Amino acid sequence: MKKVNNISNYMVKKSELKDWDSVFINPTSIEIETLRTGTIISKMSGLLNLKSANATGFDSSFTNEIGGNFKGILKKIYFRNYIQEKNSEGIEFQLKCRFINLNGVFLTHIHEHASGSPSLPNEIPYVYGNGEREENFFPFVYSNFFKNKVDLQKLDFLKGQDMPILGKCVDVFGDGSFWAISTPGHTKGHISYIVNGKETKSLITGDVCISKKGFELGVETGKFSLNIEQGRESFLKIKEFIKYYPCTKIIFGHETDEFKIEYS
Ligand SMILES: [Zn+2]
Repeated sequence: MKKVNNISNYMVKKSELKDWDSVFINPTSIEIETLRTGTIISKMSGLLNLKSANATGFDSSFTNEIGGNFKGILKKIYFRNYIQEKNSEGIEFQLKCRFINLNGVFLTHIHEHASGSPSLPNEIPYVYGNGEREENFFPFVYSNFFKNKVDLQKLDFLKGQDMPILGKCVDVFGDGSFWAISTPGHTKGHISYIVNGKETKSLITGDVCISKKGFELGVETGKFSLNIEQGRESFLKIKEFIKYYPCTKIIFGHETDEFKIEYS
């Protein structure tokens, strides 16, 4: 059913920087922009009922068909709440409009967050955490987002370094600009990222924390997570980090300051 891709290990570089104060006093010219690529309507039982408008990386296949490029006989039911209103919301269109030639993709995790990948170039590296895998409830709902990709790379945090508060981290380019943080729980190989720009320092939580409300209430991601307990530990690390570095802009898994969740 599935072609097995050739997966290599991401080459982890040695970093000179050993703590976050040293990182942040050496900002780089890296910049970050978030894109809204579709809408998910979701209920979170118990604490949060949320209707989310967010940037998850859908490509325009979600405009034409429920469940977009997911496969399986139940996908129309499973993904009935994943909406893309206009073709122009697709990740590939938005990159084209900005004249961006992608050199690589770093994922927080797979789930639907990799669903824009089929419309992106095949030759560039796609990097994700060790232990990540695609949804595979064959024949009901499954995906094969990396079918034609030739350069899949796994990031192994055992080769990374211990950083204060956040534990295992990797200085992705070895220059302190972009850091990967091991935040397992939501998925096995989940990664959060820090972007160390001159103008802005950003923390991309991924689905360790889906919403601003969850962050403020101190509630980690619920039933969508593989291991809620482990997800909570990762979530608490992130919270603690923000306590020390409150000027960091937080980009939640499904919410940013630009693209807010609407509650109803
Ligand atoms: Zn997820």
